[in-house]
Amino acid sequence: MSRSVSFTMLRVGGCRQLQCMADRGGRWASTDFPALCGLIRHPDAGWILYDTGYAEHFFKATQALPERLYRHAVPVQLPVQEQLLVQLQALGIGADDIRVVIISHFHGDHIAGLRDFPQASLIAMSTGRRHIESLRSHSLRAALSGHLLALLPDNFGDRMTLADGCRVHALPAWMMPFTQGYDLLGDGSLIGVPLPGHSVGQLGLFIPDALGRPVFLVADACWSVPACGAGRLPAAAALWFTSHNVEQYRQTYSDLGVLIRREPAVAILPSHCTHAWEAFNNEQ
Ligand SMILES: [Zn+2]
Repeated sequence: MSRSVSFTMLRVGGCRQLQCMADRGGRWASTDFPALCGLIRHPDAGWILYDTGYAEHFFKATQALPERLYRHAVPVQLPVQEQLLVQLQALGIGADDIRVVIISHFHGDHIAGLRDFPQASLIAMSTGRRHIESLRSHSLRAALSGHLLALLPDNFGDRMTLADGCRVHALPAWMMPFTQGYDLLGDGSLIGVPLPGHSVGQLGLFIPDALGRPVFLVADACWSVPACGAGRLPAAAALWFTSHNVEQYRQTYSDLGVLIRREPAVAILPSHCTHAWEAFNNEQ
């Protein structure tokens, strides 16, 4: 038996995008894309985040060119009440109480708050880490691919644990076509699951027992659970501009679609799907 952890998902800012970007059956009208992050309480390891959403650091990092191109393409809103530190404080959690941040991938909307958690160890895939470090001397290429190097803490490398250095862990048969992941804490409670295609080294998180319910955090492997379950891909332009590897993206998306249709008991939560987030909150 894996250990039970508590889990909630917080909205930390958002941006506006065309609805058809996430679902080619959607409208050519702008819609809200929340930036969601996971807050986990583990009985021994304490407070853990899966991503951070947006933060004030995002606006500073995108003041000048070429990074300003990113902000121009994706207009971001972050009201004070949605700031992660403000939400954590309201829950009685200080920045230094966050012991671990699991990084799904290094796009700016997922790691903008990393600098706010100086005591946390960081977990990511080795390929993702190597990729972001390879971009250090290529700021234009980095910005055009959604990476903002100024968001990385200075001692980032020293605090990093590689997910794929953890023990391989078989997933339950009902998680097919996903068969295995990495046991991030060594007790079966948090399993990192590679979700290739969207970015280099994207890492999903399977929580077998989130207070009795299995949860699968899938970051940007899909943007809309209803569209993915119905087999409708994002708009072709979105797919080509935002995927590191389109073929791998399609495969991961198709695998997720199989799971969504077959196992409604698993809460599948992307980072930007309002529908899935609201449905999950309503069932709590
Ligand atoms: Zn992304």
